[in-house]
Order: sequence, then C-alpha cells, then structure tokens
Amino acid sequence: MKFAADRMLGRLAKWLRVIGQDVTYGPHLSGYGLIREARREGRLILTRNRSLEKKSPPPYLLIESDRFREQLCQVIETCKLDPLERPFTRCVECNSQLEPAAKSEVEGKVPPYVFATQGSYSRCPDCRRLYWPATHQERMMAELKGLGFGKR
Ligand SMILES: [Zn+2]
Repeated sequence: MKFAADRMLGRLAKWLRVIGQDVTYGPHLSGYGLIREARREGRLILTRNRSLEKKSPPPYLLIESDRFREQLCQVIETCKLDPLERPFTRCVECNSQLEPAAKSEVEGKVPPYVFATQGSYSRCPDCRRLYWPATHQERMMAELKGLGFGKR
C-alpha cells in the first residue's frame, strides 16, 4: 500500500515513514496536485480537506483528527497496517528505502560516541543520511507502544 499525504499532514507522513510505509509528501501536494500524484502512482490519498470530494478524486482517506497520534492510529487501523513489521527501513526525509551501511563506511560521519557504541547502520541512497538504532528509535518505539502498538 502506498500513500500520498496532503501537505497539511507532514507529521503524519513522517511517522508513516518511520514505520516503513511509502508516503509521498511535499508542498506541491494539495488539491489537484495531490490527486494527480495519487493517480499517477496508484497511491491512497490522506487528507484533512473535505472539499477534495468535489474534485472527484481517486480513493482517499479523510483524516479526522488534527492530532498526529490519532491520525496515525486512524491510518494504521483503517488500512490494517502492522507498524512493527518493518519500522526504520525508510528515510524519514525523502521516503527512500534505506540500505545497510558497514561500520567501516560510517567512521567520521557519525559522532564518536555513536561509532563506539553502535554496530549496525543504514544509509539513505538519496540524501546520504545515516541511521542507527540508538535512542531516537527507542523513543519512537516507546511512542508506538504508547499508542497500543507495542510488542504483543
Ligand atoms: Zn533520505
């Protein structure tokens, strides 16, 4: 399942990427721009804009809440996503699939204490951003658990 998020839904888009979902998002994505992108790429539209209906859009999900936690729950539940299936596999900034990076490749590119304590890394092939399973991932897992999606 692929998504196209309305430009009002940036935080939701990032969180969906955190749990590994393919989400396009950007300032150009609203109204007809959003509809075109969703059609071209076969994406489900996520929007808070009720007037989108009048533009005869492809399938879309009207997001009810303006709070991202409730938005995330709505998408996960409505689309039957498993947030723990492939978390942290996608770049939060550009939506690309991350690839593994060897420890030797990241030396000097991550803070020394990270290099000393972390053994596994991933890299975004587009923006070259590095990811590692440190505290930010733990915080995100805690957030997901708080929403009721923790390990069962
Ligand atoms: Zn990236």
